[in-house]
Amino acid sequence: MTRKIALAGIGKIAHDQHVPSIAASPDWELAATVSRHGRVDGVEAFTDLDTFLAARPDVEVVSLCMPPVPRFDYAAAALQAGRHVMLEKPPGATLSECQQLEAMARAAGVSIYATWHSREAAQVEAARAWLADKHLRSLKVVWKEDVRRWHPGQEWIWQAGGVGVFDPGINALSIVTRILPDPIRLTAATLEFPENCETPIAASLAFAHPHGADISAAFDWRQEGDQTWTIEAETNGGYMLLSEGGAKLAIDGDVQAAPAGDDALQGEYPRLYARMAALVHAGGIDMDLSPLAHVADAFLLGRRLTAAPFNW
Ligand code: NAP
Repeated sequence: MTRKIALAGIGKIAHDQHVPSIAASPDWELAATVSRHGRVDGVEAFTDLDTFLAARPDVEVVSLCMPPVPRFDYAAAALQAGRHVMLEKPPGATLSECQQLEAMARAAGVSIYATWHSREAAQVEAARAWLADKHLRSLKVVWKEDVRRWHPGQEWIWQAGGVGVFDPGINALSIVTRILPDPIRLTAATLEFPENCETPIAASLAFAHPHGADISAAFDWRQEGDQTWTIEAETNGGYMLLSEGGAKLAIDGDVQAAPAGDDALQGEYPRLYARMAALVHAGGIDMDLSPLAHVADAFLLGRRLTAAPFNW
């Protein structure tokens, strides 16, 4: 069955991933866009959500791709109009607004999905399966990339609520919270804020693990040249390296074959849309906020350092 969906917040990620994933999916028809400036060729375009909701009661689902701070008002209005809602990561600017959205969805009897695209990277499930019966000794996350390359000119990432380097860092945390069999909790953090920005450009985090494993994460947006998105685990049963943002897995140095039929990172968004179709079909809700909780904890507990000013 094909359902009608609207995309709201037509910018970089909508064009890069959402539009092609919907176009390639048997589950969805892109029936409308809602965006103040952006649009998609051949698709009815609205600049205002309320006008869209009144004009298109036939569109059951709204997928929200704008930055996190403005997203709550769009999500709340769509849920209150009885539409199912899909949220880009991070699902909101605060934990309490995400909890409110989940409550609204339950009250309205509709689906809501806090998506974590990195969890859909090709080898994340294989890493989870491999770790499931191991005794973890240490886990080290290194997520270092060049903000100028991945967020050209985006001012919102430097404004309060834009989360700075946690915008990519939360992708790593979404994988960690998926692959580890045990819950972890943040115990210390250091956040580096450029003196002209409201959000951090780098962060280092330490976590407590219930069986004493040493868990750390280093995020940095100042890395030029090669980009690093790795998660390394030492266990009683060997060494695991999950690299390329979850697309590549090596166990004791042996690179594991990709799952059959997978086209590595290109599969992340198609899998999110397939999951949304299944949730809507089943009347389900998926609002795992654990990656956002770790980020919130880092802002609560973190020691703040001032870094050199950031200029594009
Ligand atoms: P973006 O291009 O800067 O923003 C997307 C669109 O949101 C903008 O083009 C704008 O469209 C709309 N928007 C911006 N500010 C708004 C506001 N105050 N109120 C209403 N609409 C607003 O950002 P993006 O890179 O697509 O990222 C959007 C979300 O996707 C973020 O949560 C990000 O973490 C996530 N994401 C991004 C990437 C990536 O590679 N960029 C990857 C994965 C996930 P209009 O001006 O037309 O309204």
